[in-house]
Amino acid sequence: MSKKTILTGIRPTGNLHFGHLFGAVGNWVLLQNDYETFIEIADVQALTDHFEDPEMVQKNVWELTIDLLAIGIDPKKAHIFLQSSISEIAELTVFYSNLVTIARLYRNPTVKTEIAQKKSLFGQEGESVTYGFVGYPVSQAADITALDGDLIPVGEDQLPLIEQCREIVRKFNHIYGVTLKEPEPLLSSNPRIKGLDGQTKMGKSLGNAIYLKDDEEMIQKKIMNAITDPSKIKKDDPANPEICMVYYYHKLIDNPNLKTVCSECKEGKRGCVACKKELITRMNEFLEKFREKRQYYEEHKEEVKQILEEGTKEAKKKASDTLSRVKQAMKINYF
Ligand code: SF4
Repeated sequence: MSKKTILTGIRPTGNLHFGHLFGAVGNWVLLQNDYETFIEIADVQALTDHFEDPEMVQKNVWELTIDLLAIGIDPKKAHIFLQSSISEIAELTVFYSNLVTIARLYRNPTVKTEIAQKKSLFGQEGESVTYGFVGYPVSQAADITALDGDLIPVGEDQLPLIEQCREIVRKFNHIYGVTLKEPEPLLSSNPRIKGLDGQTKMGKSLGNAIYLKDDEEMIQKKIMNAITDPSKIKKDDPANPEICMVYYYHKLIDNPNLKTVCSECKEGKRGCVACKKELITRMNEFLEKFREKRQYYEEHKEEVKQILEEGTKEAKKKASDTLSRVKQAMKINYF
């Protein structure tokens, strides 16, 4: 029996951080063993938000590909591909845009939340929300169906995007005859990882995320600023490790000394500075394997390019087949 296909994607707007590693992206490393896996570097989608900064998107296409390889995405098992090189996706987006109303796109909870965020950042909705942005769920439906995805790994917050895709598929199949596969979501059970400040939202601008690319100096700076139990003032005050982000990260990286960290903290036998220093050392040890792989691919950019090219070729084969079926169904296959 042939393997089911999973399609997943990530926007190239920055490097991978701990939220990715212990969340959805880390999960792809496991999924690639059981499914035919396509990982899309969604550069066209990144441009819906960052169309004025193409250099940033281009730089991050390479950064992200290197990060994915460094965490263990194996190009023999998974095809990493570039969205902008699959012109079939753009064509499908145009065809599907007739199958969804603007009102429905505005009602999509994920889009609604993102528009509200833009409004609070830029003021009036009309000035900040582009046609391309409102329509990105249509382009996502094109990504998924182009690759004939059976399962789409997502978090709860992205379920409305999958439902939107399923609606488009159903409408297409109803009008033009059964042509497209209706994908199913594959819900990730991984909890959201908190930043060093305790927030669930992580990002460069917040300065609360540990990136796989961070060097020792950066790790030291970030961990020394991490939030601890605020009731602990003096070194020998007892504290509650469960509300301390330093302890949270000790746990995350599986510190073998965790029990001691916990009991010494509770008994007031451990100072926060010493505790942070221990985390810095262990964090650097934890990151070493990623740093080594990153460095290898940094020094072998041609290999990275080839991996991306080959993954894109595989994705294009599938997308081209889907587009032929779609054009035939829509009776626009003239030549
Ligand atoms: Fe957190 Fe460690 Fe300080 Fe306890 S001793 S509050 S675990 S940093």
